[in-house]
Amino acid sequence: MNSILLIPQPSSVIVKKSSISITDIPRISASAEFAGEAALAREQLKATGLAPESDRSISVSCVGKTGLPDEGYELSIRENSIELRASAKAGMHHALQSLRQLLLSAKETGSVDIPCAEISDAPRFSWRGCMLDTSRHFYSPAFIKKLIDLASLHHLNVFHWHLTDDQGWRLPVDAWPGLTEIGAWKIDGRTTWENYKVGGFYTKEDIRGIVAYAAERHVDVVPEVDIPGHSSAILAAYPELGCTGGPYRVEDRFGIFEDVLCAGNDRIFDLFADIFDTVKELFPSPYVHIGGDEVKFNRWDSCPKCKKRMEELKLDRANELQSWITVRLANMLKERGKTAIGWDEVLEGTEKRNLTDSPMYNRLMDVRQQYAFLSDESLPTIKSYFTNLREA
Ligand SMILES: [Zn+2]
Repeated sequence: MNSILLIPQPSSVIVKKSSISITDIPRISASAEFAGEAALAREQLKATGLAPESDRSISVSCVGKTGLPDEGYELSIRENSIELRASAKAGMHHALQSLRQLLLSAKETGSVDIPCAEISDAPRFSWRGCMLDTSRHFYSPAFIKKLIDLASLHHLNVFHWHLTDDQGWRLPVDAWPGLTEIGAWKIDGRTTWENYKVGGFYTKEDIRGIVAYAAERHVDVVPEVDIPGHSSAILAAYPELGCTGGPYRVEDRFGIFEDVLCAGNDRIFDLFADIFDTVKELFPSPYVHIGGDEVKFNRWDSCPKCKKRMEELKLDRANELQSWITVRLANMLKERGKTAIGWDEVLEGTEKRNLTDSPMYNRLMDVRQQYAFLSDESLPTIKSYFTNLREA
């Protein structure tokens, strides 16, 4: 190898003429501050294809240096040693992941030649996320951990976990056992003669394990519970929360469905309170994603309870009920120390409710701009949307 190949490209790489040949797993030493990051890297380097650590091992030292951005680092590759410098644990983690990327190319040959170089790197974007939809297709905790590990290897720092949708509810909520007993399973008759149940849900232990695994890799897990639309799975378990009373089913196909949670039924807020308490219990992230996308208003238009609510609130159109719900959800999360985020259309109508001066609205706008920023043309990979991934 005569060049430094890292994804994404570091801010600065100065390649020297000499190089270093690595055949054995390097010996990593670190101060107490970086002990956790070093221990993780030692474990990860076992999968690089290099021989076990030996007397010939190159030494890698993890050294503190003030003045670097929290996620920034410096990496010096010299003829006989490698030095990593960072100001914070996150920066050292990224330094070690870059080293891991360089060493993974030994996978096929058992050795790797790296040019001596001075690398300096720091992220351009503070929110570098990937999202996995575990509703349309259920993924095992092991698969999710593998995805988070790969995201972290490539310096991403947010895992947006889409936990609920029309096709399956995956989050256990103690007071609403039907969500996982009924809402986590769909009947699929498309590929076999006999209908069969597909789906699954995560236990609290699964979720805690995934959050801890991500934290070890400096990845924040942002949960998404998509409400008040995309809620067929909720309605299948609790039909009384819909405008018509059902019957409903956990959907077996993609789409936007007419039935959503009844905006005139106060019980939906009891449900949201219990969901948010569970989310607070399990996810340390300051953000909770409330979805809010693709809500159909046909049922609200003709539902007596929803009409009554509109009269009370002096609303002209059914779609204004959603902005009323959005504000209430954001405030419920605020009471729990969390900031609500949503798909961009969640803000539709909130302007009309004269909310632009409220702190909640401004926070939503802040995050909207952040998301809008991430979807800018300059970051085409953000728009990648893989469907029908299979576990491998
Ligand atoms: Zn209704």
